Order: sequence, then structure tokens, then C-alpha cells
Amino acid sequence: MDYTFLHSTILQWFDNNQKEYPWRSEDPDPYHVLLSEYMLQQTQASRIALKFPEFLISFPTIETLSKATNAQMIIAWQGMGYNNRAIRLRDCAKHIMDTFNGNIPSNYSDLLSLPGIGTYTASAILSFAFKHNISVIDINIYRIYSRVFGLDIQDAKTKNEVRTIAEYIYPKDNSSSWHQALMDIGSSFCKAQNPKCTLCPIPDCLYRNNPSLYNMKPAKSKKIEASFRNKPNRIWRGKTIEFLRNDHQLGHDLHDVLHSILQQNPNEIDIEWFKESIIPSLIKDQLIEYNAENNHVSLKG
Ligand code: SF4
Repeated sequence: MDYTFLHSTILQWFDNNQKEYPWRSEDPDPYHVLLSEYMLQQTQASRIALKFPEFLISFPTIETLSKATNAQMIIAWQGMGYNNRAIRLRDCAKHIMDTFNGNIPSNYSDLLSLPGIGTYTASAILSFAFKHNISVIDINIYRIYSRVFGLDIQDAKTKNEVRTIAEYIYPKDNSSSWHQALMDIGSSFCKAQNPKCTLCPIPDCLYRNNPSLYNMKPAKSKKIEASFRNKPNRIWRGKTIEFLRNDHQLGHDLHDVLHSILQQNPNEIDIEWFKESIIPSLIKDQLIEYNAENNHVSLKG
């Protein structure tokens, strides 16, 4: 593979075609990058792009974010998926204020010490915000490298091989544009199902040349989710937060909450399940408070 040609092709494609997002710029604010990476963890970029400016108005700095209550975070997080990420983000801002004087760390180990920051997010922040020379591997980039080099995505050895590829393949003077380009290519063309190889700007790809040779389907998760009334508990958790978010000032009677999310009067089995499964898990994630004496449920203040 001609890496000089590969680099110039992809970087030029990115110059001309990159997606515009409010957190992207030539000289991005590390706070904006941190926020966006937190928000993008399990939610589509197009949805985050709509919510991001609004969120910045409510929390323009790491300091304002660090002072948010749980309820304020849950309300501001509406439409961005898992609410416990909102709480972790606020905790991360607190940690940055307390330990790093309000400055987002620019080294790997300090970033990894922050709540909710794993290896991917730490390397993305270093690459995009601080322009460090570092490899970044998210699920899109992982899929692209596997396909370009014809690796079986279901083979346990592939993880290490992709890590090695990721280290040597990126242009050492432009980690930021390279990895953001691959993310755009992943979301536009190199999708998990039916990749659009004829439109993809990557010049040399083993999968494109012979897709039947390689096993490109993502491995199926064997994890069985706890569920109730044919819906996973995470859906019921989301419905509970949605109900409380709409009127977070007042506590709600547990029966009212259940009636609303089930759309019918709860029976004893419903109440027992709600008290034993949903309430404890939401309390554990610091999303709600529950007063067992008067049976009131509310967002955590
Ligand atoms: S050519 Fe196809 S399989 Fe290869 S990286 Fe592009 S979209 Fe993915």
C-alpha cells in the first residue's frame, strides 16, 4: 500500500467533504471537544449537533458545568440517550475543577483518571483538542481498518492487529484530521451493513475487491438484557426519567409514575418489579430519589 498516496487522498477528501459540526474547528476549544466526545458515546452525531449549542448556552464553561445539579443535567440531556452519562459528565467537570484547576488535562494518564473517560475518549481529546500525535480507534475506525486489511472482525486476534495498524498508518503530523476523516467515512460509507464501497474515497481496500472473502458481520452480543412486559429494563428506565423530567420540581407518587409509563393501572407484580429493579438502578446511577415513607419519586436534586 502506498501510504503517501493514501494520506494525501484521505486528507484532501476531508478538506473538501468533512461534516460540519459545532464542536469542529481549526483550533477547537478542549471543553467543546470533551463535551462532544461525552455526548457522542452512544448517540448519533446529527442529533448531538442539534443539542450541542443549546447545551453550551446552559453550561458555557467547565466551571458552570461542574456546578450543575443532577436534575439540571438530566433536563439538559434530554434527547441524548443514557442519562447516567450526563451525571458522569458533571462529575468529570467537578474533578477537572478540583484537581486540575479547571484545565482539561492534556496527557493520557490524567485524562484516564476522569470519570467516564476511557482509552478511546482520552486519545480522541488528545488528538482533536491538543493535536497530539496519537492513534484513535472508535468502532467506525476499527471496522474500516479491518476491512481495508481484510481482517476477520469476529476473530479475537483482530483487535491486536488493528491496534498495530492504527499505530503505524496515520500521518504523524496530522492525527486529528486523519481520524476525523475516517469517522466521517465510517458514518457515511463504511457502515456495518451494506458499505457503499463505490463512493468511498479510500483508494485501496481488500474488502472492496472481494467482499465474500471476509467475515465482516459484527459479532452478535450474547448479553441477555433484563426485561419486563417484553421490553428491556433500560427502556422502562428511560420512560421513568422522561416522565420525571417533564415536571421535576415535584415529587411524584410511585403509582402515578408507573401508571404513566405502563399506560395502565399497575398491579402488585408491576409495583414489586418497579421497586426492586428500576428504582434501585436509577438511585445507584444518581438519577432519582425515592422516599419509601410517602412513596414519592423525583429527579435527584
Ligand atoms: S471501500 Fe468499502 S469496505 Fe473498504 S473502507 Fe471503503 S466503504 Fe469500507
